[in-house]
Amino acid sequence: MFKKILIANRGEIACRVAATARRLGIKTVAVYSEADANAKHVAVCDEAVLIGPAAAKESYLRGDKIIAVAKATGAQAIHPGYGFLSENAEFADACAEAGLVFIGPPASAMRAMGSKSAAKSLMEKAAVPLVPGYHGDNQDADFLNREADRIGYPVLLKASAGGGGKGMRVVENSAAFKDALASCKREAISSFGDDKVLAEKYLQRPRHIEIQVFADTLGNCIYLFERDCSVQRRHQKVLEEAPAPNMTDERRAAMGDAAVAAAKAVGYVGAGTVEFIANQDGSFYFMEMNTRLQVEHPVTEMITGTDLVEWQLRVAAGEPLPKKQDELRIHGHAIEARIYAENPEKGFLPSIGTLRHLETPQAVNFELGGTLANGLGHPAAVRIDSGVREGDAISPFYDPMIAKLIVWGADRKQALARMSQALAQYQIVGLAANIAFLKRLVEGEAFATADLDTGLIERNHDALFPAAQPAAEGALALAAVALIEAEKDASAAQSGTNAADPWGQALGWRMNTAYTRSLSFTDDYTAAQPAKAYNVQITYRDADWLFNRPASADTHPERLSLMSQQGTDFSIKLGDTAWHGSVRRDGDVFHVFTGGAHYALAYNDPMAHAGETEAEGGRLTAPMPGKVVAVLAEKGKDVKKGDALVIMEAMKMEHTISAPHDGVVEEVLYAVGDQVADGAPLLAFRAA
Ligand code: ADP
Repeated sequence: MFKKILIANRGEIACRVAATARRLGIKTVAVYSEADANAKHVAVCDEAVLIGPAAAKESYLRGDKIIAVAKATGAQAIHPGYGFLSENAEFADACAEAGLVFIGPPASAMRAMGSKSAAKSLMEKAAVPLVPGYHGDNQDADFLNREADRIGYPVLLKASAGGGGKGMRVVENSAAFKDALASCKREAISSFGDDKVLAEKYLQRPRHIEIQVFADTLGNCIYLFERDCSVQRRHQKVLEEAPAPNMTDERRAAMGDAAVAAAKAVGYVGAGTVEFIANQDGSFYFMEMNTRLQVEHPVTEMITGTDLVEWQLRVAAGEPLPKKQDELRIHGHAIEARIYAENPEKGFLPSIGTLRHLETPQAVNFELGGTLANGLGHPAAVRIDSGVREGDAISPFYDPMIAKLIVWGADRKQALARMSQALAQYQIVGLAANIAFLKRLVEGEAFATADLDTGLIERNHDALFPAAQPAAEGALALAAVALIEAEKDASAAQSGTNAADPWGQALGWRMNTAYTRSLSFTDDYTAAQPAKAYNVQITYRDADWLFNRPASADTHPERLSLMSQQGTDFSIKLGDTAWHGSVRRDGDVFHVFTGGAHYALAYNDPMAHAGETEAEGGRLTAPMPGKVVAVLAEKGKDVKKGDALVIMEAMKMEHTISAPHDGVVEEVLYAVGDQVADGAPLLAFRAA
């Protein structure tokens, strides 16, 4: 076995690989970009080496630099994770030339599977079932049009070199064929540098079912059952599960055999995934083979009690596969949800920023290896694979995945219940995340009843994207109580030792009078919907308050009391109803987590802006991590209120930082091209 390996990746997968290596007593070397200097994967490895700027092509894709680091640090092998260099045959060759073991398949197998058309020709020879179609070399438009007519519409055009759901076009009829072909070829050449396409029958309501295969250097090749990854958005996986619902033993064996045949046809070694597209009647066809460890490999680990990274390391070191086909069994059911920093309501637009508050579900400690949380005598059932911690940033440079949440249950029903419970416990403040969307998805009728196909999300659009609901009364009451209690603490702190002195307490306390105060909140983070405003009236009494919503017609004042508070966790009583929740304050925004929901309520503080002319544009700090694209301010120059001072770019959008008042720029702290962290001061400014 290796003594030291280099992990040529970042984020959760780098941490995942490091965890297994540590358990096996293998030392790890991390590589990182400038943007990742404080990243979790750097912290969890034994050594870490900076390899370049944030842009992946200058860092994580620089095979030459990574190989040099491996040589310099004495690593014997390189684990590429997924993405980046993991399916790069030239990199695998370069590792071999440098005397390093590439933890993955032989370069020849990657090349064979790299082109969708060539792979299909190979699979045809190996008698693996293929979607009816044309995957030959003739790219003449008239010829392809005739082939499409022969296949029968709808037809799917795919870029042969494509991946990640890009370069695909559905063609409904012969008349639309040539335009679709031209646009598919344009996208193929611009995304993959190769305009070769293939055409195949576009299946109706198909399922995506893939088989995990594993081969060693001694000629053994087995499959570790299937994963159903049908729940996708724009051809990208959102939920994955194992085993596939309604799979029969015969079909599982047939798909497993086909996948093993596919792997053997290319001389495969290591972990690989053969993706099939399946009709509702169960017939299935080869789509492609991913020659690496998949994002969703944990669901397979959970149901088989294996550590697939350990298997990868053993196979790469020349050992035989740890198990034989007939030693593998399926135990229970596992589901994975990809937690993304994104805004489902805004077309799944990535969201970047800092994870100001991150609380994950009670992770039932998932120890990789010996004590797998797979029900094999262990009660553990919740696993979180994450590459970030509270305080870390989701930057625009890399995939905005925050974590993978994986649950195990004795059966699908139990796994589903655990998933929805775990999602209800997930708290993220600082950026938009897809938690609420995932919760609706797993609790929705279609997924719960396993009515699966790749169009599940589109088909259930209305249920998955309900109109924004007004904040629950209890959430408003929790925010109000948190606000009032925080004010009490603040004024107590101000008056020092005299905390009990009512004269020292500025807020809320009025002698002998029931003081009534109005609080105004607006929805924050509410995606596409316009923000709603909420006016709350709080009347202070001796031991409790009266809570009222003057704007709503049929409300009347209700008794509100604080039953208990522990840090940010509150139990209150509103009328006859008890509410429990945790309230996290981020600036003016109160994030209320209660009943499995997250309400972000922006408090409109009348005091905060009393002395200011206008708060708008008053911020001289970076609103999110990004890059400075223009510096318009000059040191010592007078500026007028509203003048643009610095322009930043983040998430392909420009953000202008302008002067809050008339004044002087005393110092410009960054230059064009600099990366700035979220919240970093950009300028020193003196108001005139
Ligand atoms: P990529 O390499 O870009 O991920 P794939 O060939 O794996 O492309 O296909 C991605 C997704 O597109 C599949 O998971 C499935 O949802 C859909 N898809 C692919 N081929 C077909 C087909 N013939 N009919 C219907 N849907 C398909």
